[in-house]
Amino acid sequence: MGRMAVVTTSKFGYICYGCGATTASGAHAATCATCSEPMAIESYARPDPSELRRAPASMWSYFDFLPIDSRGDVISLNEGATPLLDAPTLAASLRVARVLLKNETGNPTGSFKDRQVSVGISHARARGFNTVAVVSSGNVACATAAYAARAGMKAVLFMHGMAAPGKIAQAAAYGATVIKVQSPSASAVFDLCIAACREFGWYHLSTSGMHEPFNVEGAKTIAYELFQQTDGALPDWIVAPVGGGGLLGGIWRGLLDLKRLGFVETLPRLAGVQASGCAPLKKAIDHNTPFLATLKDPWPNPKTIAGGIADDILFDGHTVLPAIRTTNGAAIAVSDVEIIRAEIALAQSEGILCDPCSACSIAALQHIPESNEQTSICCIITGTGIKDLTAISDHVPSAYTIDASLDAVRNIIDGKPR
Ligand SMILES: [Zn+2]
Repeated sequence: MGRMAVVTTSKFGYICYGCGATTASGAHAATCATCSEPMAIESYARPDPSELRRAPASMWSYFDFLPIDSRGDVISLNEGATPLLDAPTLAASLRVARVLLKNETGNPTGSFKDRQVSVGISHARARGFNTVAVVSSGNVACATAAYAARAGMKAVLFMHGMAAPGKIAQAAAYGATVIKVQSPSASAVFDLCIAACREFGWYHLSTSGMHEPFNVEGAKTIAYELFQQTDGALPDWIVAPVGGGGLLGGIWRGLLDLKRLGFVETLPRLAGVQASGCAPLKKAIDHNTPFLATLKDPWPNPKTIAGGIADDILFDGHTVLPAIRTTNGAAIAVSDVEIIRAEIALAQSEGILCDPCSACSIAALQHIPESNEQTSICCIITGTGIKDLTAISDHVPSAYTIDASLDAVRNIIDGKPR
């Protein structure tokens, strides 16, 4: 699978969530010798508790938890340290105690992927690469292009069929090489990108933990921030959209760090949300399918407006499946109609315009098992809607067009027909 990483650190080792096997730091064994599942990174950090109680300046305030040895290799645009907002209107309409929104739209390129790409490209620099390549439907491509520009490195972006035009333009603006691949299958584009990385000596920066375990570590910092921002009183549920699964799997592993350190006893229940037009996670949870078996059964013909999570296989199934199974969590699928409705509802009730992927979390709020007036729920708002306004332009009220006359304004205010 991934390129062998030469590691000389005691910051982390590797763990297999399939069977519990661990290896100390050293060369990265891509797959577990016992059960063949991909190995994930396990942090050995033992920070002073006060460090986790202090508001972070950026994600890199959690440097001790991240698998980069030298601060000099860190490439950052001050990602992370995003707001946690109360959403009282949403909570009241759902009759739950509290809805919290972890608003990742404020990251430098507009999505949580900045956390992952910042870790991954720092690892690439530490290992002496000058070109990085990714597969992306949009947000990872934008993040990779921006961070490569920041680092003075080259970026090659393999964007698949569902990439929104706004995201392609954003990625190109940072000076990256953008290649559109005409294939509906994310896994097929992955195979092409990996072959190109081998051929041309590029670092593979796609956010897929089964191919490269470093990038996905950035998502763990969301868990540390939630702990800090709730003063240790974590919500009953954390809800996140799932494409490959690296976000929710990462949040789970961040929570495991908090448990290992004795900061929390019980983990929140974790809910992964997909579009019903591409829902391999829900299928795997419903059928209790082991991770490696899910890889042989890609979702046929993914079709949804939430293109950012339309992955036909679970690239991080080795972490997202246990994340849901061990926390008594849930896999939820929502329709495109529910997604659009939720995107507009969030904008109009809370003033946050998210993308269709993030809107999946909001749409899923109506489907959280056993929720009631005591339940607190945190939704991860993963990316901004500003990159992809075409997705909702047909569903929002159209503008009035008038001559420059006060009477015409009065007609609008009075609700007279146009
Ligand atoms: Zn194993």
